[in-house]
Amino acid sequence: MDSNKTENTFQRIIKSGAVRMMVAVVLVAIIVGVVGVIRSPSEISFAPDSFEQTSPEIPQLSAGTPHGQIAVDYVYTLNSDFFGRFPLSYREMDTAAWLVEVLLAMGYTWDDISVQEFTVEDTLHLAYDVFGEEMGFLVDLLYLFCSSPFVNFEARESRQSQNVILTVPGQSNEVMVVGAHYDAFMYPGASDNASGVALLLESAQRMRELDNYYTIIYVFFGAEEAGLLGSIYYVNSLTQEQHDNILFMINADVLLEGPDLFYMAGYVRDNTRGENHITQTWDYIAQNVETQHGITITALPDGVLGPSDQLAFLLFEHTAMFLAGLDKNEYFYRYGMDAFSSMTRVLHSPRDCFYYINERWPGKIDDNMRGFSLLLEEFLLADY
Ligand SMILES: [Zn+2]
Repeated sequence: MDSNKTENTFQRIIKSGAVRMMVAVVLVAIIVGVVGVIRSPSEISFAPDSFEQTSPEIPQLSAGTPHGQIAVDYVYTLNSDFFGRFPLSYREMDTAAWLVEVLLAMGYTWDDISVQEFTVEDTLHLAYDVFGEEMGFLVDLLYLFCSSPFVNFEARESRQSQNVILTVPGQSNEVMVVGAHYDAFMYPGASDNASGVALLLESAQRMRELDNYYTIIYVFFGAEEAGLLGSIYYVNSLTQEQHDNILFMINADVLLEGPDLFYMAGYVRDNTRGENHITQTWDYIAQNVETQHGITITALPDGVLGPSDQLAFLLFEHTAMFLAGLDKNEYFYRYGMDAFSSMTRVLHSPRDCFYYINERWPGKIDDNMRGFSLLLEEFLLADY
């Protein structure tokens, strides 16, 4: 691929987005004036034979369970029991362990699940290609901030994170990658991104009973908030054959920032966003879901360059989609994609909490999760 040309686009996007957010984090750390004491609670072994499994109760799925219902349960659990899932922290690691346990409780086995562990050092040089080298300094500060008494999220001494990967084989070797990051920026992270994780969990649970033609790989990415580290590590770990088998990638991130459902799709080549038969199929499906279920779903093609994990796949010229729930009347429409980095109502604030969102837009957590759940299922079961 022509990396020089695409790099310009990505650098522009990232500079307006994630880096600005990280600079804000750094300033807070400096103002608070604390340097963290790095504690070392015990690391979890994710090797199948030494993983110490507990069995969380999971919402049950029956034939009549409405779409979105169990996803809302998962949002609530992540919001309440796993708040502050800071990248590179022990809480993030605990969340990864919970994800594995939930997948096992659904009936998947270690033959289907793998945990891909990576260190900052493994990943940073890969991320430099996207973000520039100043990123290393920012990640170091983020790491110190994570351990500071001010927030005390306990950065891991190993400087590690991990992707939790579930493979659901189909008749075809062609692969649909469905991703959502499970780390969070300080707060409960109900929208960013318990919502995306919950959508994937419900989809994986439903897929036990459904017949998927294509192979589906669900990836729960770690350390997205530190600069897409999990997704960048994942795409770079794939062999050429694995890349060739990828049909597309769908990323779910920030599904509850507002009551309006968006899908943003395309691929990027020579610094230009393009459409193909896959994005056309998605347009057709979205219109169908809208007609059949009365849910308004808006296409916003340029949004596919929004700062989240699908960018890592766009860099390898894969077709990708970014799903998000936003508010048409607020910052998003006034400032375009920059809304993700400016002070939106919910994102990266204490308001990113189940209770606030539920009060601000009554019923919308249910509505959004239902709409996205119906939509994702249609995308995963369609013919391409
Ligand atoms: Zn996010």
